[in-house]
Amino acid sequence: MAVWDEPFSATQSCAEQGGSSRDCFRVFVSVAEEVFRRRSSELFNFLPVENSRILTVEAYYAVMMHELAHYFLRHEERVRSEEISRSKAEFEADTQGIFWALANGRTPESLSYFIFPIMVFDLAFGGVSSSHYDAPICRQGSIRSISRTVGRASDVIIHLSDGSFRNPDASIALSFLTETSPQFIGDWQRENCQNTFENELGALSKEINALVAIFRNHIDLLVPQPNGDMTEPNWAFSPGDPLPLISDVLDAAQKATFTRWLYASVLSNLVSRAAITPGAHSYFDVNSEEYERILRYVYNNGTSKNHGVMLYGTAGLGYLNDPTLDGLLTHIARLELSLEYDHRTGNTYWWLADAYLLLGLCSKAKSTYIRAMDDVLSDADPILKEYRRLYNELPC
Ligand SMILES: [Zn+2]
Repeated sequence: MAVWDEPFSATQSCAEQGGSSRDCFRVFVSVAEEVFRRRSSELFNFLPVENSRILTVEAYYAVMMHELAHYFLRHEERVRSEEISRSKAEFEADTQGIFWALANGRTPESLSYFIFPIMVFDLAFGGVSSSHYDAPICRQGSIRSISRTVGRASDVIIHLSDGSFRNPDASIALSFLTETSPQFIGDWQRENCQNTFENELGALSKEINALVAIFRNHIDLLVPQPNGDMTEPNWAFSPGDPLPLISDVLDAAQKATFTRWLYASVLSNLVSRAAITPGAHSYFDVNSEEYERILRYVYNNGTSKNHGVMLYGTAGLGYLNDPTLDGLLTHIARLELSLEYDHRTGNTYWWLADAYLLLGLCSKAKSTYIRAMDDVLSDADPILKEYRRLYNELPC
């Protein structure tokens, strides 16, 4: 990152001239501040006016996601029981934080703003590294690699899996996947960080490549075909049987270490899309053992939103697969549980209200319909106004 070159060499010459770490820290901060001021319009011209505030927010966001990842991945317990080393836990948290930043449209490399100064001081004075952690120079390198290669691939994979990759030309989707395949080619990193390079980054890239290979095999299914109106979301798969794709992803998911959240998100998206593809109930059985295995994987490795999306996406199939009272009760149970995990889905309330009505639970249905309208929809729409009138007139 060229922007760091000046603060870096200023700190090194301060150290070479015998400056204390306290003095050289002052030099680092003032040179960095000056460089950022001088070059901000050139470096951040894609950002709105308040650049420095945005950078600060992004950097804090990155650190928060990193810390949240430690909690999400149960690192305290896993490091204590020696299931993984501390340095591996840091690598996992960096990876997970970057995946989340990308999935939420944030700036994935922002963690560098914290790691880079640590790296500068480690190089100038030593003593920042410990045997428990990777050297900051390697950490900085892996953050860059994950953000620029693996992270980009994961972003394309997520969009392909949830149907939001809207270009109907499959070859474009394939070229994105090819271009973003992980390649760790930084020489300085290869020289200094053999261990990280070969173990963690190598394993991570293998896991992503497995998913890329599966997606390439099923690319025609994954990219939605245009159905006339490209402005409307079309989440369904292209015609074809999605089960082999889902089984392939589930098999690869069992072998994943660093990318379990990515696999859980992809499985949740694929299963939800399979469930809404016309005719899905004829090939997709939500009472099957495989469905239970996927649900458990998503529950154990995904976020609560991934779990909620999957429950919601497949809720309707519960009844279609088993159109009996039992099937209807399963359908209701899944929708109610989905609300606990992903409560902002307006359609969930709507479907749930329909199901309550089928059971004859009039007042429960009525309050749930009203909830769907209040939570998600605008009253301005004349059709919705009419719906609201109808719900209010339900005989209970
Ligand atoms: Zn950490």
